[in-house]
Amino acid sequence: MHKVFGLYTGTIMSAHVSTAARTRSHALQQRAEHFFPGGVNSPVRAFRAVGGAPPFVERAQGAWLTDADGNRYIDYFGSWGPMILGHAFPPVVEAIQRAARDSASFGASTAGEADLAERVVACYPAIEKLRFVSSGTEATMSAIRLARAATGRKIIVKFEGCYHGHADGLLVKAGSGVATFGIPGSAGVPEEVAHLTLALPYNDLSVVESAFAAHPKAIAAVILEPVVGNAGCIPPAPGYLAGLRALTAREGTVFIVDEVMTGFRVALGGALELYGIDADLVTLGKIVGGGLPVGVFGGKRVLMDLLAPLGPVYQAGTLSGNPLAMAAGIATVSYLQHNAAQVYPRLEATARAVAEGVAAEAARAGVSLTLNRVGSMWTWFFTPGPVTNYDQAARSDTAAFGRFHRAMLDQGVWLPPSQFEAAFLSTAHGDAEVQATIDAARGAFETGITGYSL
Ligand SMILES: *Cc1c(COP(=O)(O)O)cnc(C)c1O
Repeated sequence: MHKVFGLYTGTIMSAHVSTAARTRSHALQQRAEHFFPGGVNSPVRAFRAVGGAPPFVERAQGAWLTDADGNRYIDYFGSWGPMILGHAFPPVVEAIQRAARDSASFGASTAGEADLAERVVACYPAIEKLRFVSSGTEATMSAIRLARAATGRKIIVKFEGCYHGHADGLLVKAGSGVATFGIPGSAGVPEEVAHLTLALPYNDLSVVESAFAAHPKAIAAVILEPVVGNAGCIPPAPGYLAGLRALTAREGTVFIVDEVMTGFRVALGGALELYGIDADLVTLGKIVGGGLPVGVFGGKRVLMDLLAPLGPVYQAGTLSGNPLAMAAGIATVSYLQHNAAQVYPRLEATARAVAEGVAAEAARAGVSLTLNRVGSMWTWFFTPGPVTNYDQAARSDTAAFGRFHRAMLDQGVWLPPSQFEAAFLSTAHGDAEVQATIDAARGAFETGITGYSL
């Protein structure tokens, strides 16, 4: 068995590798299944959508993950988004170590909270005031409570395939893990709650117009992923986001842009900057915590001042604004701010090279793929496409994607383990990783997924 050896700076001594031996991972998975449902603490990690056994990670540096058997993989899921600067990025590691020496948590205010807030507000002009929470789920859940309180309305509009965390009212046609498992919403969500959520097709303004006509003065909020990542990568059609902004403004509905995935990813100022739009409330997560658990909800001052202790909307968190998490967030966001002019063009170029390079290998092998990409997030959909909404994404050949995933993993390339998850890369990915990935894809298309047909 070959392994990929090399430094995290990207030196690769063997492009064609086999990581088939995962005996320790296998044993660890069996042990984990004793304690955790499916052996995992978040469902997609179990690899059920692609088959095969999930490697257990021991450590990571830069663009590379090392599993419990010593196999190395190029990482294209980046902890599902946060690791935009690569793993164990020294300024982030040092910031966490420094903060930890002064105690991990106080449950009282620290200067670090406003330090990170100042940076967030500088990047997101739509955010005038904010609250830190500990996950994206908490951020969107709290934003919706605020929107309902502000409008005195109950109905939430979301879009098919968009995932906003696992709060009850948002688990309706929610893409990602939910789509992967074909669960219609989720068991345990009361109909009364689900009925307050309207799930509409993405990228179609006319259905939103119709919803407003059908529910006059009853829609509290419209929430969306401004670039969908949780149904695979689906960019907004030209004018779509601006159209939603205009419709919600006209209707007195709170426009919530969920940038938990896209924030600091598609641009320093997220999709709001990239597409030049405004929002009433914005949610952030993932990158803003630099790999530690942080979520943000924030926006217009008049909305945020409805929160306790100033107003009647209750929201709280024992570990909200945790000093270690703030330190990791400050180290990450300040690096991005100071280096945005280099970071984002580099991410764009690297992502373009790998995404288009693999698509070209597919085309050469006669495999029909649709590539959707916005900056450093993308998806190879195993369908001739186009993919502009969830229904079209769902036409993908997920069995073929599973074969592709397994073939890539066996050659040392770890893609997100579902057709309906966007791939990401980091500033630590370079030419060597790109070339190794394209070589692996050539091998996969030649051998690993034979039998693929549309
Ligand atoms: C990941 C994600 C969430 C949920 O964040 P968690 O921290 O996993 O709770 C919400 N919205 C979007 C767009 C996400 O990608």
